[in-house]
Amino acid sequence: MSALILVNGEVRDECIQPGMQALRQGAPAIDVAELVARAVESDAGDHSVGFSGLPNILGEVELDASIMDGATLASGAVSALKGYLHPVSVARQVMERLPHVLLTDAGAARFAAEINAEAGDLLTPEAKAIYLKRLNAVGRDWGLEIRDWRLEIGDWSEISNLQSLISSSNVPLIDLVARAIRYHEGGDTMNIIVRDGAGRLVSAVTTSGVAWKYPGRVGDSPIIGAGSYADDRHGAATCTGMGELTIRHGTALRAVLALSYGKSIDEAGRETIRDLRRMSGARDAWVRLLLVDKNGAVGGYCTRPGATLKVQTIDENRPRVIESEHVAE
Ligand code: ASP
Repeated sequence: MSALILVNGEVRDECIQPGMQALRQGAPAIDVAELVARAVESDAGDHSVGFSGLPNILGEVELDASIMDGATLASGAVSALKGYLHPVSVARQVMERLPHVLLTDAGAARFAAEINAEAGDLLTPEAKAIYLKRLNAVGRDWGLEIRDWRLEIGDWSEISNLQSLISSSNVPLIDLVARAIRYHEGGDTMNIIVRDGAGRLVSAVTTSGVAWKYPGRVGDSPIIGAGSYADDRHGAATCTGMGELTIRHGTALRAVLALSYGKSIDEAGRETIRDLRRMSGARDAWVRLLLVDKNGAVGGYCTRPGATLKVQTIDENRPRVIESEHVAE
């Protein structure tokens, strides 16, 4: 089976192209995965990843990312990273330069500074306006009315004003988050699985996480075994959707284990999603699973209809969009 790139359907073809070119030239899967993930992190039109990602409840963009090399099971990850443009590259450096797998928050930022990772403001005016609109809609009971959210909202200092307003007006952040979060609208966290010409598998995930999250919330994207897993001997898996569910369930690892027990890719995908549904009991469970087996067969499995994936082999001119299979209860 040939080398390929598999991503979630929201990723633009333009972001896949440089990776496909590199794959054709014989680049290893890990370089290709990082290249494509970086392109998506720079995409200002994508409000769930990197630059222009939607912020936490305090208006701060906190990024989660991971990368895993299926040849060695080496992995690197960062969570709640603020102020750096390419968390996937920081995650890769964690893997390559530290005896650790996951760095979080201030430690992750310190490491990013030490390796000279590209720093930058992540909150774009558009993302800021979406945030203020949401805060306006859910914060009225606590006097959080931002009447001029439609205007170009100045700079970071205005977000700090808002943060002091939230702390000084006794707004219970717990209640504000519960009211603001809308899981069912999320889901275009960036997932990528690459299989290179040598049969090496790499999975990577990068995201700003669920919008309006509690500060410091870590999703499944940087949790190896939950949002991502790769093992050349069996296959690779990544997830989008409600990270809390896939962390509890160990979804990506379970899917790869199912392949290791000899299940076909469809059996592994369906059984993993079915099991997640049963385990969580959540009627509104929203999770999409991307799978590649060791031979390069691909599949997408989802708790609700309509989610897509994109796949391109090195022999194809452009990515194909595939509807992921809706796995009913
Ligand atoms: N899985 C991501 C998280 O929980 C969110 C998403 O896929 O939209 O942070």
